[in-house]
Amino acid sequence: MQLASQSDESHRPHWFDLPPQILIRVVEQINQAVVITNADNIIIYVNPAYERLTGHTARAAIGQRPNINKSGHHDSAFYEAMWRTLETEGHWEGEIWDRRADGTVYLKYLILERIIDQSGQTSHHVALFHDLSEKKRTEAELERLTHYDDLTDLPNRILFRNRLNHEFNVSNRHKRSTGLILLNLDRFRQINDTFGFTAGDQLLCEIAERFTTCIRRTDLMAVQEDRTERDPDMVSRVSGDAFAFILSEMRQPEDASVVADRLMAKLEQPFEIAGEEVFVSASMGIAIYPQNAASEDALIHCAEEALAQVKQTGRGGYRFYSQEMNASSANRVRLEAQMRRAISEQGFVLHYQPKLDLASQRITGMEALIRWPMEDGRMVSPADFIPLAEDTGLINPIGDWILERAFADTLEIERRTGHRLTVAVNLSARQFQNPKLIDTVADALARSGLPPRQVELEITEGMLMHNVNEACKAMRKLRSLGVALAIDDFGTGYSSLAYLRNFPVNTLKIDRTFVNDLRASTSDACIISAVIGLGLGLGLEIVAEGVETEQQLALLRKSGCHQAQGFHIARPEPLEAIIARLSE
Ligand code: C2E
Ligand code: MG
Ligand code: MG
Repeated sequence: MQLASQSDESHRPHWFDLPPQILIRVVEQINQAVVITNADNIIIYVNPAYERLTGHTARAAIGQRPNINKSGHHDSAFYEAMWRTLETEGHWEGEIWDRRADGTVYLKYLILERIIDQSGQTSHHVALFHDLSEKKRTEAELERLTHYDDLTDLPNRILFRNRLNHEFNVSNRHKRSTGLILLNLDRFRQINDTFGFTAGDQLLCEIAERFTTCIRRTDLMAVQEDRTERDPDMVSRVSGDAFAFILSEMRQPEDASVVADRLMAKLEQPFEIAGEEVFVSASMGIAIYPQNAASEDALIHCAEEALAQVKQTGRGGYRFYSQEMNASSANRVRLEAQMRRAISEQGFVLHYQPKLDLASQRITGMEALIRWPMEDGRMVSPADFIPLAEDTGLINPIGDWILERAFADTLEIERRTGHRLTVAVNLSARQFQNPKLIDTVADALARSGLPPRQVELEITEGMLMHNVNEACKAMRKLRSLGVALAIDDFGTGYSSLAYLRNFPVNTLKIDRTFVNDLRASTSDACIISAVIGLGLGLGLEIVAEGVETEQQLALLRKSGCHQAQGFHIARPEPLEAIIARLSE
C-alpha cells in the first residue's frame, strides 16, 4: 500500500511495517477524525474521534458513501474541484464546512489522501479532519475585542475609522453622499461624579441601545425597489461619552437631520439611575461628504468644528458644518495668538459697573467686567473671548490679572473719592476648578491690602452643578478667606432655589432675562417677586441684573430686592469715569 502523493514525506521514518494492530490503536486514539473508504468509495472504517466529532455512529457510517456536500456553504464546483485534485494529485487539504448529525454546520480542516496499490490503482481513500469552530470562536472573540467597545458592544473607534475608509472608497466610485454625525453627551462627567461609574456605565449602555434604534440597519426602500441593499448605517462609541454615526448613501443632506432629530427625541425620555430620573442631553456636529470635505480626516474635522459650535452656544442640539465655521476656526487661531500677546503686553482693561443699594439709594458696590480693546478701536466682548480663554487655559493668567487689577482699582477709588465699595469679580468655570484659585485670591488680597470683606466672587450655577461636593469644598475655602460669594445669572441654569440652600453663598444675582420683560401687569412680575421672596427666605443678598427702566427699578424695590445693576443706573465704565461719577 502506498500514498498516491509522494511529496516531501519521504524523509519521515517509515513505520508502515508496524503490525496492523499497533497502527489501529494509534488511529483509534488520536483526536482527529479518520475515515477510510475502499476502491468503490464506500466507508469501511471510522475511528472514535469521527463519532465524537460528527455525531454519526460507526455503524451508521460504514457501508455509506462519504457525504460532505450538505452544509450549503459551498457550490458544486467547489466539490468537483476538490475531487479532481484528489484524483490527479492524490491529495487535497483545506477548510471546509460540513454538517453534524444534529444538523449544526461547522468548519473543519480536512486532509484527503488517495491510496494506490501495487498496480497503481486506487485502493482506498483516507480522510483526516478536525473541528475548527473553537479556533474560529477565538478569532471572532479577538475580532470583537479589537473592533468593538467592551461596555456597549458597539463598534469602537478602530472599526469606525475602517468603515469610514470603506465608505469613502465606495462613495468615490459610486458618487454617493455620506453623512457623519459626531455626538457628545452633555455634562456626562457630572453623572459619573454624582452617581458613580457603575451607574454611568449602565447609563451608557442604555443610551447605546436607544441610539441603535435610530439608524437604518437595512434599507427597506432598496428591498421594495428590488435594488441591491445599501450598506447599513453605523453607530460607534468613539470615546467615553462620544458617539459617531456614519450615514451611508444619503439621498440628501436632510437625511442627516432626520437621524439627528430622532437621536434628540430618544433622549427626551428620562433614564432611571438608582431610582432617580435622570435627563441626558447631547450636542451633535454634522458633516457631509463630498459637500464639506474631500478626505476622511477633513470630514471628521468638519463635524468636530460643527460640534464645537453647538457646545459654545450652550449645548444641546445639532448643527451642520458650514464654510463660515472654517473661517471662524481660522479666526480663533488668530484670536488665540492675539490673546497671548495681550496677556504679556497688558492689553486688557477692566470696566466697572456700579450697583445701586435700593434702601440707601447709594452706590455701594461695582462689578468688574473685562474689556479687550483692539488696535482699530473695537472692543472685543468678553462673551466672545472668555470661552476661548477657557478652552485654551489662558483664562488662568488672565483671571489672575483681573483679580490683581480689580483689587488695586477698588483701593484707588477709595483713596481718591472716599467711597468704600465692594468689588464683584467674575470667575470662569476653569478658574473655579483650578485648585490654585484659593492661593491666587489670597495672594492678590495680601499684595493689594484690600480687606476681603470688600470682595465678592461671582460664579454661575453651571459651575456648581458639575461636581456638587467639590464645588462646596472650593466655596468653603474661598469663604474662609473672608470674601463673599455670589451666584451669577441665576435662573438661566437648572438649579432650584431649594438646591441653593446647600451652597455657602451670600448673594443671588437674578439674571437680566427675568428683569428684562418685567412689566407691572405680566406674570414675570410674579415670578421675580417669588424668586426674590424665596431668596430672602434663605437669608441671601439679592441683586437684580440688567435693570434698564425706572419701572423695573420700582417693581424690584417693591419686591424687597436689595441691589440693582443695569444700564438704567450706569453702564460699565472705565476707572476714571467711575471715579468722576463718585466724586460728583
Ligand atoms: P455678567 O457677569 O452677567 O455681566 C453682566 C453683563 O451684562 C455685562 O456684559 C454687562 O455689560 C451687561 N449688562 C449690564 N447691565 C445691563 C443692562 O442693563 N442691559 C443689558 N442688556 N446688559 C447689561 P459683558 O461685560 O459683555 O460681560 C458678559 C459676560 O462675560 C459677563 O456676564 C461675565 O459672565 C463674562 N465676563 C465679563 N467680565 C469677566 C471677567 O472679568 N472674568 C470672567 N471670567 N468673565 C467675565
Ligand atoms: Mg457677573
Ligand atoms: Mg450676570
